Amino acid sequence: MKLIDSHAHMDNEAFDIDRDELFEKIEKEMDFIVNIGYDLESSKKSIEYAHKYGFVYATVGFHPDEIVGYSTEAEKELEELAKDPRVVAIGEIGLDYHWMTHPKEKQQEIFRRQLELAKRVGKPVVIHSREAMEDTLNILNEYPEIKGIFHCYPGSAETAKTLLDRFYLGIGGVLTFKNARKLVEVVKNVPMDRIILETDCPYMTPAPFRGKRNEPVYVKYVAEKIAEIKGIEFEEVAVKTNANTRKVYGISEENK
Ligand SMILES: [Zn+2]
Repeated sequence: MKLIDSHAHMDNEAFDIDRDELFEKIEKEMDFIVNIGYDLESSKKSIEYAHKYGFVYATVGFHPDEIVGYSTEAEKELEELAKDPRVVAIGEIGLDYHWMTHPKEKQQEIFRRQLELAKRVGKPVVIHSREAMEDTLNILNEYPEIKGIFHCYPGSAETAKTLLDRFYLGIGGVLTFKNARKLVEVVKNVPMDRIILETDCPYMTPAPFRGKRNEPVYVKYVAEKIAEIKGIEFEEVAVKTNANTRKVYGISEENK
């Protein structure tokens, strides 16, 4: 069964040299991918790909490291983009206290504004949270109707349990790293019906390619690792993560 990459950045300059070939490879070898926006420009690029290729869907949003361009004007434009039928979520949005490109308060304000936007357009969200779990959860609790994906899930198995009624956990290349003990515990403890596959390519490359450029087809190494940890067949990982990804993004079988 062909897999889905729920979180890719094919507009990244790392793909400038061979993007067309990679899209051909994705069409042949994968079910579909979701290209994730992180600012206005990348959101537009994501929509452009999603209109060009039936096997690409898009999200639109401002990553917490990229909120410098977030204005009332930009928000209006973002909301228009968000209404495009090929746009399946708002994201990636959230808090990043690791890079701290912008003060916490500013990040929280823009995060809330985009959660409001998601509410208005009635679409799920893709959350980016780095070294900011407590604040991320507190803000999400202000929006109990919001559902979506916790991308590159950074938390504990304990915390995961509190999220599962509203969120799917995006699991990527980190799971294959030697020091991934915490994430292995998460995967062990979270039921298969809440796990989805992602690459975050060109970043987060799984073993055996760690250190090289990541690409959507490498999501299979993450699926293999999940199968190993859970003691189930690869095929079961594929079937379940595909169904979960379609469900959270609202993409039906006929739709692709
Ligand atoms: Zn990302």
